[in-house]
Amino acid sequence: MSLVGKMMDRPLLVSAILEHGAHQYGEQEIVSRETHGPLHRYRFVDMAKRAKQLANALDAMGLKAGSVVGSIAWNNYRHLEAYYGVSGSGRVMHTCNPRLHPDQLAYIINHADDEVVLFDATFAPLIKAVAPHCPQVKQWVCLSDAANTPQIEGLDVKSFDDLIAPQSDQYEWPDLDEKSGAALCYTSGTTGNPKGVMYAHRAIALSALSACLPNVLSISSEETVLPVVPMFHINAWCLPYACLNAGAKLVLPGPKLDGASLYDLMESEKVTISAGVPTIWMGLIQHLEQNKLKFSTMHRTGVGGSAMPKALIAKFNDDYQVEVRHGWGMTETTAIATMSSFGGPDRVAKQGKSVFGVELKLVDDDGNTLPRDGVTQGELMVRGQWIVSQYHKAEKSALVDGWFPTGDIATIDASGMMQIRDRTKDVIKSGGEWISSIDLENAAIAHPHVAMAAVIGVKDPKWDERPLLFVVRKPEKALEKAEMLAFLEQRVAKWWVPDDVVFVDTLPVGGTGKVQKNELRLKYSKQ
Ligand code: AMP
Repeated sequence: MSLVGKMMDRPLLVSAILEHGAHQYGEQEIVSRETHGPLHRYRFVDMAKRAKQLANALDAMGLKAGSVVGSIAWNNYRHLEAYYGVSGSGRVMHTCNPRLHPDQLAYIINHADDEVVLFDATFAPLIKAVAPHCPQVKQWVCLSDAANTPQIEGLDVKSFDDLIAPQSDQYEWPDLDEKSGAALCYTSGTTGNPKGVMYAHRAIALSALSACLPNVLSISSEETVLPVVPMFHINAWCLPYACLNAGAKLVLPGPKLDGASLYDLMESEKVTISAGVPTIWMGLIQHLEQNKLKFSTMHRTGVGGSAMPKALIAKFNDDYQVEVRHGWGMTETTAIATMSSFGGPDRVAKQGKSVFGVELKLVDDDGNTLPRDGVTQGELMVRGQWIVSQYHKAEKSALVDGWFPTGDIATIDASGMMQIRDRTKDVIKSGGEWISSIDLENAAIAHPHVAMAAVIGVKDPKWDERPLLFVVRKPEKALEKAEMLAFLEQRVAKWWVPDDVVFVDTLPVGGTGKVQKNELRLKYSKQ
């Protein structure tokens, strides 16, 4: 019989992260770019006070424990206050992706039972379209002061500052069950309705601790962190929690995510660590190249959400002395599940080793576990303390034999290094063999005149499917089909080389920064 550990049973809570940050690193700064006006700057202690004012305001509105508060907002300081004030007081912070179609947005607001919705002024037209379809929302709140709160016909819109102003900045955070829901995010699924993932306090607290580790993003109180990853998607990889945990200065970029705006903010705030999807880094690098700029303080960037091409990793390393950490995760994994750190572009281009608390395995179509030999491909299965077990309000478990099926095709080698080969729905089957669209995209982006690349499978009478490559050229750079294909022939198997290249001005990019291949498929796959 095992003996029982005699340790205190203290819950892992979002409010505990806030209290820790405010008490241990109270003077640390939070800088936020706003939709209106100059940069906003205050300290962890000031943020904690306003989060408590919000908690009191929600009490005053009669919102019960477990009520859901939606947000449609950029990364900014009022959104951060909501992260803590809503979850800390026992309600659920439901972050909504503003790039969803208004019908889908209304669907998730209704499905989640949002009673209050917080939004940025920029999204006023969206709120106008969505609000009539969300009758259960009692209050729409603009994350702004009164002067910048828009009037929306037929809606009672309050300003966030007015809502919290009369409230006390003292609040006794409830001792919640650490398994209770703290935040909710819906998948940005391309088929069917989005599915909700309810993150427990415990999952967030553990994942935020993990993000700080030396092999993950190595965040300490010496760092200044700028999360470009949106707070409306997968908790911005838990960075808004991790920074309070570690005492790191937090810089929130608001609505301006273009290369020039990010670079200016990185330089003016002496940012040392950032995190975002590859498309954001492509825009930033283009801005640096065109204007012959260098970073003065940035030394590390986390990247994930889609595969980071090896060529871009090498450029960050060699031309800009910025170390790249390449992670993998999904809405269902709370934040970072694997991370590839150290060892040069070849290694970092893979998606990395699972962090403590997350386990991985590969299975074939019959559910048999596949070898970890770095070659055998199978569906990636994941389990751990911050992995979904059941979608919000779903009747059935999301798991197969206790593991979550990710829908990603991967390899894992003997050292635990995982590499995503494709999404099950993106992988191309040609003449009975698999072609990885990610590998082809990586090969294409290595061409110095290619800004972005995407590959889809198109129907083919002989081979079933063949790859079709889309290329966005770098500004003022010439590149034609023959040269592109010759370049690929040097780098991939002959039968992988696409039959055609379509040069486009832009690629459709969704709200989470991923290329929307379903849109490309709709337009091109029957040609
Ligand atoms: P989402 O839930 O919208 O964040 O999408 C999660 C999906 O993004 C994963 O299942 C992967 O298909 C993809 N993804 C995330 N990170 C990476 C990465 N580093 N490399 C390749 N694909 C990734």
